Amino acid sequence: MKFGGTSVANGEKIRHVATLLKGFHEKGDELIAVTSALGGVTDGLMNTAKDVAKNGKISQVKEFIADITKKHYDAIHAAIDDEDIVSETIETIDLRLDELEKALIGICYLGELTPRSIDYISSYGERLAAPIVSGSIRSLGMESKWFTGGEAGIITDDNYGNARPLEKSYDLIKERLSPLLNSSIITVVTGFIAENETGIITTLGRSGSDFSASIIGAAVQADEIWLWKEVHGIMTSDPKIVPEAKPLTQISYIEAMELSYFGAKVLHPRTIEPAIKHRIPVRVKNTFEPSFEGTLIVADQVPSQDVVKAVTLIKNVALINICGAGMMGTIGTAARVFTSLAKVGVNIIMISQGSSESNMSIVIDEEQLETAVNAVRSEFNRNVVGDVVYDRDICVIAVVGAGMDGTPGVSGRVFSTLGREKINVIMISQGSSQHNISFVVSSKDAINAVRALHREFSN
Ligand code: ASP
Ligand code: MG
Repeated sequence: MKFGGTSVANGEKIRHVATLLKGFHEKGDELIAVTSALGGVTDGLMNTAKDVAKNGKISQVKEFIADITKKHYDAIHAAIDDEDIVSETIETIDLRLDELEKALIGICYLGELTPRSIDYISSYGERLAAPIVSGSIRSLGMESKWFTGGEAGIITDDNYGNARPLEKSYDLIKERLSPLLNSSIITVVTGFIAENETGIITTLGRSGSDFSASIIGAAVQADEIWLWKEVHGIMTSDPKIVPEAKPLTQISYIEAMELSYFGAKVLHPRTIEPAIKHRIPVRVKNTFEPSFEGTLIVADQVPSQDVVKAVTLIKNVALINICGAGMMGTIGTAARVFTSLAKVGVNIIMISQGSSESNMSIVIDEEQLETAVNAVRSEFNRNVVGDVVYDRDICVIAVVGAGMDGTPGVSGRVFSTLGREKINVIMISQGSSQHNISFVVSSKDAINAVRALHREFSN
């Protein structure tokens, strides 16, 4: 469950979540709850650590600690009624805050921040939230225990900031958490954080608490993994762009993966990998409308008349075009382009090359544009690559649906719709899995394109 987003205060949300958990437990469901940090806390931790590593200001640490203390105290008082549990939780939180303050002051003195220390600092968000969630459950008269991701058995590689669970985690989690399942205890686990084999804290990447839930659900072979959001599930498009966007009742794993890669930021892109591997259905539900069924993500393709399930928009991207007559028939050009980009850490979002071979287009994150252009330019002399040009005023639109596989006429409809709207298509790409047609348009046309396509395919 997530505490980010909406205007509902953290403490009220926690109390609401605890009440939900109590309800499920009393109905006989066996539960493990995975919690994220309170809204804004992970960002605050990361930004403060980065700032003070540069400016060395202990006063900034003090201010931040005062701020975060108040935030968590407020949440405790709003989420927990029982006075004893309140004081116990405050005691736990005080210890954590004290450690955090010392660590941040250490960073002020050292003036450096390694990926390992960023993980350590950002882990405090979840480690401060879990005792409050657990306390809130106990305050409703239930039993509850909380664990860090590492204690629960999530052991990862050393890739700080984006760590991957090791295979042995699955057995460990099962061994440690399964016995608690059919007991009177409601288990709470910190999402997002884990540890490596030597016990050092790692994190699973931003928004990683869904990933934690998926790992744990897979390990204990849950009937379903529920991801609680503040939206109605996965939508046919971004409701901020398309007001008539609707929640999808059921989609397949493949579609969900396509959608998370292509901008439907409801899910962390890797979230459902463990669920897929263990064939566990994932349900995305709305915390504030728990009776609404949300979106169920399942293994098999869901029979549906809708070939296109969703239309998504990716902003903040840029296009690089590499062109020159000399590229034609020159073996190794693509390899050199990709290797030069990989060397400077540029992630490629989309690729297209026409059969004339004299033109290769690549879409990347806009932030990496300068790095990418410099890397490709310095890789080639002008004999092979005539020119490297770019455009940052573009967006990617992806039309997603497993039913497009083998259905003629879908791309026809996509591009006639754009034609009718007088929208120029700059670049196109469709992988042969046929689950996704992606194309690039100028930023000024993007919203119109998404709306027109959503209209076209919702009929
Ligand atoms: N607290 C972490 C983040 O903000 C993980 C999460 O919210 O899922 O990225
Ligand atoms: Mg852009």
